[in-house]
Amino acid sequence: MSAGLVQAAYIVAALFFIMSLAGLSKQTSARSGNYYGIAGMAIALIATIFSPDAQGFGWVIVAMAIGGAIGIFYARKVEMTEMPELVAILHSFVGLAAVLVGYNSYIDPPAIANVAMLSASEVHAHHVIHMVEVFLGVFIGAVTFTGSIVAFGKLRGVISSSPLNIPHKHKLNLAAIVVSTLLMIYFVKADGSMFALIVMTLIAFAFGYHLVASIGGADMPVVVSMLNSYSGWAAAAAGFMLANDLLIVTGALVGSSGAILSYIMCKAMNRSFVSVIAGGFGQEVVISSDEEQGEHREASAEEVAEMLKNSKSVIITPGYGMAVAQAQYPVHEITEKLRAQGVEVRFGIHPVAGRLPGHMNVLLAEAKVPYDIVLEMDEINDDFSDTDTVLVIGANDTVNPAALEDPNSPIAGMPVLEVWKAQNVIVFKRSMNTGYAGVQNPLFFKENTFMLFGDAKDSVDAISKAL
Ligand code: NDP
Repeated sequence: MSAGLVQAAYIVAALFFIMSLAGLSKQTSARSGNYYGIAGMAIALIATIFSPDAQGFGWVIVAMAIGGAIGIFYARKVEMTEMPELVAILHSFVGLAAVLVGYNSYIDPPAIANVAMLSASEVHAHHVIHMVEVFLGVFIGAVTFTGSIVAFGKLRGVISSSPLNIPHKHKLNLAAIVVSTLLMIYFVKADGSMFALIVMTLIAFAFGYHLVASIGGADMPVVVSMLNSYSGWAAAAAGFMLANDLLIVTGALVGSSGAILSYIMCKAMNRSFVSVIAGGFGQEVVISSDEEQGEHREASAEEVAEMLKNSKSVIITPGYGMAVAQAQYPVHEITEKLRAQGVEVRFGIHPVAGRLPGHMNVLLAEAKVPYDIVLEMDEINDDFSDTDTVLVIGANDTVNPAALEDPNSPIAGMPVLEVWKAQNVIVFKRSMNTGYAGVQNPLFFKENTFMLFGDAKDSVDAISKAL
C-alpha cells in the first residue's frame, strides 16, 4: 500500500469512527453505530499493517490472533453486570500500551521526515517536541494504567469501595504533578534521561493508584468514564509519538467523548467535574444503620398484582438489582400484561442506575421493552405525583429521598427519581441492606412504601403469574 493510500484509508476510518459515535448516541441507531465502528477499525488495521513503514507482519498476525482469541473469549463470557470491570481493565491496557510505546520511542526515536531539508534549529525543535511527547505520553499512560486497575478492583469488590483517606492527600497529588513537571524540564534540558523517565513513571503509577483509590463508591461511574477519557488521551499521545494521524484522531475522539460523558455523569450525580478530573476527592461513604428510621411495611406478590390491576398508571424504576436478578424478561412480561388491560406503564431511568451508563436501557432493549415507554429521569420526574403505583425493582441510591431532603447525606444534592410522590411505591429487594453508596434509604420507611422481599426475578415472576 502506498503512503498516500494509507492516509486516504485513515481519513475514511476516522469518518467511520465519527459516524459510530453519532450512531451510538441513540438506542435506535446504536446497532449501526457499532457496525460503523467495526468497519472503521477494520480499515484502520488493514491500512496500518500494510503501510510502507510496517514491519514484522508475521508477529503482528500472531499477536492479533492471540489478543483476538482472548478478547472474543471474555466478551462472550462477560455478564452485563461485569461490563464496567471489563471496560476498566481494557483501559488499563491502553495505558500500559502508551507507556511501552513511550519507552520504545525514547530508546529508538522515529526518523524525522525530510530531515535533509530542515535547518539545525528545526531539527532541534522536532527533537524537543518528541521528548515532551514521550514524557507526557508515558505520564498519562501510567496514570491510566494503575488508575484503571484500581477501578477494576473496586468494581469487582477486591478493593474496598470506600475512599482511601491518607493524610495530606491533596498535597501529595500536587507534589506528584510538580515533581513530574520538574523532571520533564530536566528530561528535555538534559536531552533525555532514562533515570528521570523511570522516576516519573513510578510517580505516575502511584499518582494513578491514589487518584482512583481516594474516590468513594458513589463516584465510581464518573471514574469509569473519566478513565475512558484518560485512555483516549493516552492513545492520542501514543499517536503523536508514532506520528500516526489516525491514532491521534481516534484518541482525541475517545478522550473528548469520555470527558463529555464524565461531565454528564457528574451533573447526574451532583459532583464537580473539575474535582473529579483533578483527583475526584470522593466523599466519605457513611454506612448508616436503619435504627431510628421507623417501621417498614411488606406486601406479597399477590397483593402487588392486585394493586397493579387497580392502577391507571404505573412507573417502573429499575436499578442494579434488576440486572443482578436478570429480571428484565418477566418485567417485560408484566408490562405487556398490564398494557393489555389498559394500564399505562412507563419506565423511569436514572442516568447512573446500574453499574455503567445506559446499563438499564441495554437490559430493557434486550428484553424487547418498546423504546418509547422508556423515559429519562428528567422526562418523567414531574409525573410521579400523578402515578398510582411505582415499582422500584432493585434500585436504591437512585430513588433515595435523602439526596434531596438531608443536606448531611453523602449523596446530598444528587438528582434522584422522586418515586415517593406516587400513591404507592413497591420496593423489590432481598433485604434492608444499603445500595452501592452505602447509605440508608428513608424511602423504605415512608407510609406509602411497601417492601417486596426476595430475588427480583422470582418476585416479578410471581406477580406475572398472579396477573
Ligand atoms: P444500588 O446499588 O443503589 O441498589 C441496588 C439494590 O438492588 C440493592 O439495594 C440490593 O438490595 C438490590 N438487589 C441486588 N440484587 C438483587 C436481586 N437479585 N433481587 C432483588 N434486589 C436485588 O443500585 P441503583 O441502580 O439504584 O444505583 C446505582 C448505584 O451504583 C449508584 O450509587 C451509582 O453511583 C453506582 N454506580 C453506578 C454506575 C453507573 O455508571 N451507572 C457505575 C458504578 C457505580 P439487596 O441486597 O437488599 O437485595
